[in-house]
Amino acid sequence: MLTSPLAFERLAQDGRARVGRITTLHGTFETPVFMPVGTQATVKSQTTDDLQRAGVRILLCNTYHLHLRPGEEVIEHLGGLHRFMSWPGAILTDSGGFQVFSLARLREVREDGVLFQSHLDGSDVFLGPDQAMAIQQALGSDIAMAFDECPPHPAARSTVEAAVERTLRWAARCAERRAERPQQAVFGIVQGGIHPDLRQHCARELRAMGFDGLAIGGLSVGETKEMMNAVLEDTEPELPVDSPRYLMGVGAPEDLFEAIERGVDMFDCVMPTRNGRNGGCFTWSGKVRLKAAIHREDPGPLDPDCGCSTCRGYSRAYLRHLFNTDEMLGSQLASHHNIAFLQSLMEKIREAIRAGRFAELKAEFTARYFGPHER
Ligand SMILES: [Zn+2]
Repeated sequence: MLTSPLAFERLAQDGRARVGRITTLHGTFETPVFMPVGTQATVKSQTTDDLQRAGVRILLCNTYHLHLRPGEEVIEHLGGLHRFMSWPGAILTDSGGFQVFSLARLREVREDGVLFQSHLDGSDVFLGPDQAMAIQQALGSDIAMAFDECPPHPAARSTVEAAVERTLRWAARCAERRAERPQQAVFGIVQGGIHPDLRQHCARELRAMGFDGLAIGGLSVGETKEMMNAVLEDTEPELPVDSPRYLMGVGAPEDLFEAIERGVDMFDCVMPTRNGRNGGCFTWSGKVRLKAAIHREDPGPLDPDCGCSTCRGYSRAYLRHLFNTDEMLGSQLASHHNIAFLQSLMEKIREAIRAGRFAELKAEFTARYFGPHER
């Protein structure tokens, strides 16, 4: 068994909600943690200084996209992903599985991987556990993800069953290849759709493979929130207690609370930057649409309870003006606020767990976020 390159300590617990500390070669951070998504080795519109000022310590980059452009060999030649994008903190790379099954046009799912057409130029690309591990090793991320098959939702139980078994065979192959880059942690991905027994079976088998953490994949793909919560509820008992649990693709504040309550430690989502680009912002008093006419003469900040540079420096009226005139600074400032907001939300959640008042914070947050202020 390899010594894990990732240290995880549990610092506090309130119900099933936990505060932990993860140490990687590129820094230490506390969990629950939210990771902004840097698809193309850039969190859209944000410099790495912006990200650090917002409190970000770990971000996610996409194996599939970086494999297509510029190619992992280019990034490796230039000293690896951290140096390439000038990011001193930790990086998690996804395995490309999700993108292959959602973005690309599938040609053939084979035992050793997937043949598909690039969404860029239609050329044939092959990605399987061996390729996904080799690419992530060349990128040099701190945490690599095992290559998995993410079935669509809804799907027949037999389809999900087959995807779970293939995911497990692929995970075993990824686990074998861990030794090639001992400084890189590898997480397995639990699949199983909305079927509790398949999720539990998948989690148990992955646990036995000795991964550094486990992720819950295949959620936030169109199922209801009740289904997502039920899957978390059913899967949690089978997840290891002494390593991180990561829920992929979830970032709405209300969903973060639900998952943290069910023992999840890590999250990623494109939401803060995707919404930010369209003027959609999170605030402590609910969602705000910066394009709305109500802000036309509003001299106040986007969120009076946020300490980010957008809220300290600019009025709602100015931000609305930027969106109305299609100025790129609007996207930049709104994205920055959304990222900083989720970082400070996670900080407040960690404080509450430490103080044994997670449930109170959740109730307070929900009442205000969905209260009469929403607009
Ligand atoms: Zn702000």
